[in-house]
Amino acid sequence: MIIVLKPNSSRETVDHVLECIEAMGLTPHLSQGVSRTIIGVIGDESKLRAAPLQAIAGVEQVLPILKPFKLASREFHPEDLVINLKGVRIGGGSLAMIAGPCAVESEPLLTEVAEQVRAAGANILRGGAFKPRTSPYSFQGLGREGLKILRAVGDRFGMPVVTEVMDPRQVEMVVEHADMIQIGARNMQNFDLLKEVGRTPIPVLLKRGMSATVKDLLMSTEYILSQGNRRVILCERGVRTFEDSTRNTLDLSIVPNVKGLSHLPIIVDPSHATGRPDLIPSMALAAVAAGADGVHIEVHSCPEKALSDGPQALVPAQYAELMTRIRAVARAVGSTIAEPEPSAEPALLHS
Ligand code: PEP
Ligand code: MN
Repeated sequence: MIIVLKPNSSRETVDHVLECIEAMGLTPHLSQGVSRTIIGVIGDESKLRAAPLQAIAGVEQVLPILKPFKLASREFHPEDLVINLKGVRIGGGSLAMIAGPCAVESEPLLTEVAEQVRAAGANILRGGAFKPRTSPYSFQGLGREGLKILRAVGDRFGMPVVTEVMDPRQVEMVVEHADMIQIGARNMQNFDLLKEVGRTPIPVLLKRGMSATVKDLLMSTEYILSQGNRRVILCERGVRTFEDSTRNTLDLSIVPNVKGLSHLPIIVDPSHATGRPDLIPSMALAAVAAGADGVHIEVHSCPEKALSDGPQALVPAQYAELMTRIRAVARAVGSTIAEPEPSAEPALLHS
């Protein structure tokens, strides 16, 4: 159910409604808009129907949420969610430009890539320390050492950092080092992992599963949101189809589709979606034109030597060229590329 409070309700009224809902044995979820306050009450349908919610003073309307996803729905949060990641605003026309190598391989390599993607305008640094590889004999990531390198390099260039977790036991360690947690495609329906990241205080980048529908994706966000973490960014990274000339098939229509259904930002990863550097630029431009809230691109200074996903990496010069074109498309559709907050200590680029 959605409880819409009377316009410009005072703090006391909101608290009163929350207390009444709790006294009925239900859990309220608050969504405070600019002039409207909405409270989502989710739980046992029969208990909800029986609860005299309409009778609470200050309540204007009680509406059912007809969609199976509740806290992720636009009804619950009509305005676009804007997430502030260390000064980088993501959502509502402000774009996340996430770039970096597939895996953190070494400090010199990450430094080289970070310096160049930052100069090109990337605002968030990525790099996996725990890698979900198809083969257990392939490079699995540097683990804690990789997280430390990512943190240090991100700080040096004033970039917030995002990295993947694969197991609930890694979550605490990743939260200590990263600014945003990535849940990879293979774990989109690892519900215990989703609940675990739902209890953390940092935003979550949730990638679409390889054969997940839009509804599956939004139901997965519900596992995170219902634990209290409201800051989820969705990521389209291609789905499995019969087509085998690309690594996956990019489903770009998901961007306006999700925007109609949910307030959560959605970004696009053309690297994993196509697996082909010759296709990544066009798909990145198309994503921004379609209204995506950002683009996630793998960049490596020496793709032929990369320990994972080398064949799909752009080199820094290609990324820089793409960024100039992305800026033009962003301008045309009225989006802006966010700048990270200047760090307290200026980054020493050539120390
Ligand atoms: C990645 O971002 O490196 C990755 C493994 O992505 P996905 O989960 O989309 O395959
Ligand atoms: Mn990768």
